[in-house]
Amino acid sequence: MPDLDTIVSLSKRRGFIFQSSEVYGGLSAVYDYGPLGVELKRNVRERWWRAMVYRHDNIEGIDAAILMHPTVWKASGHVDAFSDPLIDDKASKMRYRADQLIEGHIARLRKKGKDEQADAVYDRLVEALNADNPSSALHAVIMDEEIRSPDSGAFDWTDVRQFNLMFETHIGPAADSESKVYLRPETAQGIFVQYQNVRETARLQVPFGIAQIGKAFRNEIVARQFVFRMREFEQMEMQYFVKPGEQMPAYEAWSEKRMQWHLDNGIRESKLRWHEHEKLAHYADAAQDVQYEFPMGWQEVEGIHSRTDYDLSRHQEYSGKKMEYFDPQSQERFVPYVVETSVGLDRTILMILCDAYREEEVDGATRSVLKFHPEIAPYTAAVFPLVKKEGMPEVAHRIEDDLRKQFNVFYDEKGSVGKRYRRQDEIGTPFCITVDGDTLEDQTVTIRDRDSMEQERISSDNVRRYIEDRTGRWTPET
Ligand code: ATP
Repeated sequence: MPDLDTIVSLSKRRGFIFQSSEVYGGLSAVYDYGPLGVELKRNVRERWWRAMVYRHDNIEGIDAAILMHPTVWKASGHVDAFSDPLIDDKASKMRYRADQLIEGHIARLRKKGKDEQADAVYDRLVEALNADNPSSALHAVIMDEEIRSPDSGAFDWTDVRQFNLMFETHIGPAADSESKVYLRPETAQGIFVQYQNVRETARLQVPFGIAQIGKAFRNEIVARQFVFRMREFEQMEMQYFVKPGEQMPAYEAWSEKRMQWHLDNGIRESKLRWHEHEKLAHYADAAQDVQYEFPMGWQEVEGIHSRTDYDLSRHQEYSGKKMEYFDPQSQERFVPYVVETSVGLDRTILMILCDAYREEEVDGATRSVLKFHPEIAPYTAAVFPLVKKEGMPEVAHRIEDDLRKQFNVFYDEKGSVGKRYRRQDEIGTPFCITVDGDTLEDQTVTIRDRDSMEQERISSDNVRRYIEDRTGRWTPET
């Protein structure tokens, strides 16, 4: 497993991800995707959309705006309760999330084999998160366990305070409280408030789902882990509306499908697991996360939440508009229950980069390679003429043009072929096609496999079909 710095520097060096506004010293926890990153992200986004919207005849998509009526966030509970417990190290002035400090402490105890103590602290964390006054309960755990600051090593903490994560701005010319709006902290509410419009126009009947991909904004307290925790990020969410009482089978089925999606993206099974929530939101009746073993430990990538009728009922109450559904079969009227699947696109990208990265010894040298699923890789193929003469570039360009009808392709005629292979390995291009002297004689090319590094000679007319076939049969190395 690479460390996070390796992934950060590869991302920058090869143009996957850059710090935002880097020339001005950067903007903390905000990132830009470069030429390779944008392709990776588009491919993953597309796979999610296909898996959710195209593969289910009862799921439709929407694209809601980032700015919404401010009452949405009062109804949803975000104005009052979308906050994290923060604590400051007085020695270093560094800020931390109190719950995460305790989680870090638990992980260290487990590493040292002190499982009994780790279990006891875990129980106290759960209790604290569910306490009437979580701030003081979390503070007490930090004090009792003498948890030190991870950066300075000091044990000199402030009290724990709650900090609301929503970004505020103003709509129109007057910056007063009347004009206050928020940048959405999640995409889900756009789905809830449009649920009747979508249901009626798309003629959907319960059970049905609404899917959305879009930006969300959170003023995170601690954001030091690259694109794992950003202040501006992208979510892919689906809300599935069911009859009350039928939420658990839907929750189970969606949990299974969502885990399978990550596996289908080529993520190694041994690096994925389920994690039950320590604290259920007061409105949820079940919730669990898909976790991945990142370089910094097991962390959430996706949440599956059974949210009951909380959101729709609250919007019904705050808007005065009916959020009920009339079931033509049972002739009943009810506010549907909701099962949500919510995955961060950027976190998924980080997981894919970490999971695909390998360093391998080849002929005494280290090759670094990204073993992406071929359908996710930024470039599906690279085409090289062995030399820049004897008609080879012309043939190579013909193959390139044909492949471009279907795939994103890289053409390279500079440097030795060995170096060109290594460059493509480093950015995860699964297939390299080389045109050489024999090609001009017998219309065959070599095609090299990124993972096995094996080369085969195939007919130059057959390249597209070969790639399609290999892509369909690809499985990750364990
Ligand atoms: P965490 O506990 O890590 O803050 P969360 O439980 O608040 O996450 P949700 O509100 O359930 O996260 O959001 C759903 C998904 O959105 C997460 O699983 C994650 O992939 C993604 N996500 C949430 N916050 C961020 C962020 N700050 N940066 C990047 N992705 C995020």
